[in-house]
Amino acid sequence: MKKKLLILASKLGYQTRGFAEAAEKLGVEVVFGTDRCHQLDDPWGDRALALHFEKPREAAEEMLREQRANPPDAVLALGDRPTPAAAYAAQAFGIRGNPPSAVETSRNKLRQREALAKAGLPIPQFLSFAVSEDPAQAAARVKFPCVVKPTVLAASQGVIRANDAAEFERAVRKIRALLDSPEIQVLREPGLDQLLAESYIPGKEVALEGLLENGRLRTLAIFDKPDPLEGPYFEESIYVTPSRLAPKTQTAIEDCAARSVAALGLVTGPVHAEFRVNDEGPWVVEIAPRPIGGLCSRALRFGAGRISLEELLIRHALDLGGSDLPREKDASGVMMIPVPRSGIFEGVDGIDEAEKVAGVDEIRITARLHDYVAAWPDGSSYLGFIFARTGTPDEAEAALRSADSRLHFKFSPRLPVEHPATGRLRD
Ligand code: ADP
Repeated sequence: MKKKLLILASKLGYQTRGFAEAAEKLGVEVVFGTDRCHQLDDPWGDRALALHFEKPREAAEEMLREQRANPPDAVLALGDRPTPAAAYAAQAFGIRGNPPSAVETSRNKLRQREALAKAGLPIPQFLSFAVSEDPAQAAARVKFPCVVKPTVLAASQGVIRANDAAEFERAVRKIRALLDSPEIQVLREPGLDQLLAESYIPGKEVALEGLLENGRLRTLAIFDKPDPLEGPYFEESIYVTPSRLAPKTQTAIEDCAARSVAALGLVTGPVHAEFRVNDEGPWVVEIAPRPIGGLCSRALRFGAGRISLEELLIRHALDLGGSDLPREKDASGVMMIPVPRSGIFEGVDGIDEAEKVAGVDEIRITARLHDYVAAWPDGSSYLGFIFARTGTPDEAEAALRSADSRLHFKFSPRLPVEHPATGRLRD
């Protein structure tokens, strides 16, 4: 009988498509659960279960009700938001999963810091305060430079460095505006009433992609992030693997990752973790029980390049064998192309030249033509992705930069819109 995989994702897009393709290749049935839209009846025709990820226990009960007759053999969460619902669902179906308490602790940045501090892991000093607190009062308790962040958002949204009290107050006001925006309000995430302030960790940043099996963490890849990420905002750009850090530094990172997941109580499935490394060694930025997001997974291939990360994770989740294959031999990199300025995206020149750069594997422009795109920090998406695959990580990085320099994105200004009531123009 076909094995069945339940995938929980807030967005149905590239990543879910990647899993659907890998599942088809493996002859696995996939059911999606999403909180994308509850008003319309299956507008995409994918028969996705409509769930509320902000209420993970109820979401699990709903999954059980809907799938009891033909239950899934495994459940996977994509993105941070559905991770607690996936853990409760695994428990409800009696299938392998992380303990819900471990996932709830990981999901909230404050609770995660508390758990890691208790276990003696290297993390920055931190304190939390209410969003509603007078930022001047909170600033008096903070040591600078610091990083202020919401406790439950992802993808660096609302993560801001502040070097003094004035910058801190401005950062808090900016985060408040973000949290009040309809896009965030609609998420109804518990924990949005708290902010976290941490000491700023200087150093090089890396991401570790790992896979947990019975509590043992296997490193799938360590990515260097060669662009400086010094704030005030922390937009991602280039990831390159294998890491060029000294082998003993990489071992220290792996060790720190293994101790962190153990401290959080995570035992199975994908892990995406971020660290900063300086003279004192690795520092934990964040640990998440989910795979790398969006299209970036295409930078990873396994077993002589034939197996995608999605396929590897499905093989692991369903015990199909082959999930222990190592990453391919080539160096690999991805660049998330930042939005240089806000405006209406009117197209891009130079794709042909960029694709011809030696080592460039693929360029995917994901911004939609004639859509408004916002530059960081107001926006949180990228114009697209450049992938490189070549002999060494230096060459992969150079290929990404060279391809990027050949792309010329065109924007037109957004037309001013009159407020319907006042008739005033807004920018
Ligand atoms: P998110 O989960 O939204 O990505 P993170 O807490 O991982 O939020 O922060 C996003 C980025 O901000 C990190 O990848 C890192 O570059 C930077 N950052 C976060 N906290 C710190 C810190 N304490 N010191 C230095 N940089 C930080």
